[in-house]
Amino acid sequence: MTEYILARGNGRSIPHEDKIFGINSRAKAMIAEKGADKVINATIGSLLDDEGNLVVLSSVDKVFKGLSPRDYADYAPIGGIATFKEAVQRAAFGANQPKGYVEAVATPGGTGSLRNVISNYSNGGDKVLTSDWHWAPYNTIAGEIGRSIDTFEFFTGDGDFNVDSLEKKVRILLELQESLVLILNTPAHNPTGYSLTLEDWDKVIDVICDAAETGKAIALVIDGAYIDFAGDEEEYRRFLPKLERLPENVISIMAYSLSKTFTLYGTRCGAMICIAKTQEIANEFKMVCEYSSRGSWSNSAKVAQVILSRIYGDPKLLRDVNGERAHYREMLLKRGRAFTKAADQVNLKIVPFDAGFFISIPCDEPDKISAKLEKEGLFIVPLAKGLRVSIASISEEKCSKLPGIIKAAM
Ligand code: PLP
Repeated sequence: MTEYILARGNGRSIPHEDKIFGINSRAKAMIAEKGADKVINATIGSLLDDEGNLVVLSSVDKVFKGLSPRDYADYAPIGGIATFKEAVQRAAFGANQPKGYVEAVATPGGTGSLRNVISNYSNGGDKVLTSDWHWAPYNTIAGEIGRSIDTFEFFTGDGDFNVDSLEKKVRILLELQESLVLILNTPAHNPTGYSLTLEDWDKVIDVICDAAETGKAIALVIDGAYIDFAGDEEEYRRFLPKLERLPENVISIMAYSLSKTFTLYGTRCGAMICIAKTQEIANEFKMVCEYSSRGSWSNSAKVAQVILSRIYGDPKLLRDVNGERAHYREMLLKRGRAFTKAADQVNLKIVPFDAGFFISIPCDEPDKISAKLEKEGLFIVPLAKGLRVSIASISEEKCSKLPGIIKAAM
C-alpha cells in the first residue's frame, strides 16, 4: 500500500507511475540510445500508420481547421449541444437503432460516460461487473467513486464466451446489492480483440432477463470505444435491436467515444446514450447524468460536438469521413490477420481475437516475459493474465514477426 504524506489514500492503491506510460518512456529511451530500427513499441493505444505517426482523418481535420472561435470558445450546455445529441445517436447506432426511449448526454470521452454510469446506477461500495480480461482504467474509474470491479470469466476453456460464468456472477452480485452495472466492451474488445457474436448476445440478454426477475435495477453498459474498427459498421451493430427484449428495470447505455472513430482523442468527446423502456426512465437518465457531469467536469468541450454536428449535417462529408476511416480500418484488420496467421504458424496461443487495436497472449509470468522482451527491444504491456500487444501501433510486417519473438521468449 502506498504511504501518503498529506494526501488521503481512501482505500486506493495509487502507483507512482502509470504502467503504460512507464513502458513507453523506456521504449523512447531505447530508441534514442540504439535507434528506431532496433525497437518495436507495441504499447500505444492509438492508431499509428506504418511509420509510427498518429493517424488523423484528414476529412475530420479539415472541419476542425475551418471552425470559428464561436464553435469552440464558448461553453456547451451541460448535456451537449442539440445538433450533437442528434448526430451522436446516428453515429453510435447507425441503421440499427433499437426501439425505445433514447436520451444522449455529452461526456468527455467514453471515460466520462463510464464514470457517470457507475456513479448513478450503483451504490457506494458496490461491485461493478465486467469480464476478467478488461481495460484496467475501469478499476480506477470505479475506485475513484468508492466502487470496485468484480469479474466473470470471459472465456471457457474452449475459447467460447463464458455465459455460465456471467450468469453466476450476475446472480451472486444481485443477491448482495440493490442494483447492478454490467460493462461489456464489444466489439473489438480491449485488450483481447474479441467481439461478442449475435449468439453470445442472445445468451447475454437471456441472462439479464432472468436476473431482472428479481425486480432490481440493472444497467447494461456497452463500451463501444472500438465499434468502428471491427469491420462493416452495420454488420457489427446488428446486436443492437436485441436490446429491445430487455424489461423495464434494465437500462441499456452505450458509452460512445469519438476518440478512435473520428481520431479526436485529445478533444475529449463522447456521449452516454440510453435506451429505456419508458419516457420516465429516459428522463431520469438525462437528469442524473447531467447532474453528475455538473459536479465532475461541468460541461464537456464544445469543439468536437460542433465537428460531429457538421459531419452529420453534410452527407458528402460523412461519406468522406467513413471512407477514409474504412481505409485505415482495413490497414488495422490486415495487421490482425498477419499476427494471428503468424501466431498459428509458431503455435503461440492467443486469447480469442476478432478485430481491433489489441491482441492478448495468455501468460503465467507476464512481468518476467515482458521484461525479457524489453531487453530485446520489443515493448508490450504485461497484464494480470497475459501480455497485450497493440497492433494499432505497429506495421503489418512487424505483426508477422512478433509471434515468433514472443513465443521464443516464453
Ligand atoms: N473503453 C475502452 C475499452 C478503451 O480502451 C478506451 C480508451 O482507450 C475508452 C473506453 C475510453 O476512451 P476515451 O475516454 O478516450 O473515449
